[in-house]
Amino acid sequence: MPAHPTPRRGADAFGLWIDGCAQYAEARAVSSVLEPATGAPLAEVARASGADARRAVASARRAFREGPWARQTAAARGRVLLDLAARVRAQSEELAVLEARNTGKPISDARWEVGSGAACFEYYAGAATQLAGSTPPVDAPGLALTLRQPLGPCALIVPWNFPFLIACWKIAPALAAGNSVVVKPASATPLSVLRLAELAGQAGLPPGVLNVVSGPGDGVGSALVSDPDIVKVSFTGDSVNGAEILRLGAADIKRTSLELGGKSASVVFADADLARCVEKSLVAVFGNAGQDCCARSRILVEASVHDAFVEAFAAGTQALVVGDPLAESTQIGSLISRSQRERVQRYLEIGREEGARLVCGGDVPKDPALAAGAFLRPAVFDRVTPSMRIAREEIFGPVVAILPFRDEADAIRLANDSIYGLSGSLWTRDLKRALRVARAIETGVLSVNSSRSVFLESPFGGVKRSGLGRELGMAALEAYTELKSIYFETEEGM
Ligand code: NDP
Repeated sequence: MPAHPTPRRGADAFGLWIDGCAQYAEARAVSSVLEPATGAPLAEVARASGADARRAVASARRAFREGPWARQTAAARGRVLLDLAARVRAQSEELAVLEARNTGKPISDARWEVGSGAACFEYYAGAATQLAGSTPPVDAPGLALTLRQPLGPCALIVPWNFPFLIACWKIAPALAAGNSVVVKPASATPLSVLRLAELAGQAGLPPGVLNVVSGPGDGVGSALVSDPDIVKVSFTGDSVNGAEILRLGAADIKRTSLELGGKSASVVFADADLARCVEKSLVAVFGNAGQDCCARSRILVEASVHDAFVEAFAAGTQALVVGDPLAESTQIGSLISRSQRERVQRYLEIGREEGARLVCGGDVPKDPALAAGAFLRPAVFDRVTPSMRIAREEIFGPVVAILPFRDEADAIRLANDSIYGLSGSLWTRDLKRALRVARAIETGVLSVNSSRSVFLESPFGGVKRSGLGRELGMAALEAYTELKSIYFETEEGM
């Protein structure tokens, strides 16, 4: 089957990527992938079965056991990853348009995502050569040393909210450490990852080192997780599915990393720079139409500035431009699907029924050009209490719940009153208090006077039901290795 740089249909459909080339799925099954902003078919993609998933695992196993990749020097692997990064940068506009059309996100966000994906390969190309063992001074007549060795074939399961970037976060460290991988993109958004696989082939990645199988989570995803030849699973998605993946992999004691849901809090103290806090918080809540595990979907505001904050935040929300993802001025694009929008709209109803006040938004834009998509204006709820479902459950859409707090202790209690603990922000000019509160908040990632959660160089992940293990930084690279201890006995000792 031919490989194509743009979405195609029929005989030109995207294939599965197995053994370094595009392939048909079993029985030539295909799925239609939709463009959320128009509701129209965007491309056809081969739809893998469990048997196709096992074929991809066999290819990854062969490449790991028999191919050159795991045995190459780290520097040689790094050069291939740098070549891939350069190809991503060279095709960045094509990839960004593909991503914006497949997800409904604004083109400016998609460009950022593609650039960050390239930077991720660049970072791990260098980091590969920094992956070192140690020589622990053992109490014995000899030399002990530790090696960081690749694990083997890894299954990388990717969601639909940042399909390209999250795939890069998993693929780059896994390959840098010398593993082979089978990637399962979300059924709704496989296109940019399939295109990445084509570029990886052109960059000289040996066949079988990177495989991509698009197909349903409960058929293809579960087949990958259950396959005894898969040594590690890295999954990003829903917490319930994360628990199922742990269960499926338990019999084989599979290494497992999970990045799951969140209900993160921004804690705003009265002494904060409110104007800056509002400006940054709008992005932290409504970026990617709120379909972001790091979304600060709860804003806890000190009571004395609560009313002023709500007024400014609502004004900022109403000024956000909702529109065509491919328009340069668009800040909020389409949600991923109409069914996701319906889920969010149900939460808007729940919020009203629970007695929260909808300050603004939550309506479907009237513009006829957007009628066929899954657009929704960002919604701000005030007078939210901690027991309301809109304050407790991950909505995964453009909805924020604002709650007042009395004092520092109350703020910490409210922030920690969640089954999740992924990210969060703290807004105050009092740095001693910032350090105290940052230590007390149960979360994997926290930013002070900022809404940024993610840096390539720094570990990212959650506590409680937000996940297990870390993406990014050296922590992710090490998590794709096994630590082996070797001891050389010598007569004299060392
Ligand atoms: P899912 O957990 O349903 O999907 C994530 C990925 O896992 C997809 O590739 C999916 O495939 C696959 N999958 C689903 N079930 C299984 C399974 N049993 N075994 C193996 N793989 C499986 O999340 P969604 O993307 O549908 O989003 C649902 C919710 O998950 C969101 O509302 C949000 O709460 C949370 N989420 C969190 C994210 C984060 O970054 N932490 C990112 C995205 C979602 P398929 O697409 O074919 O179903």
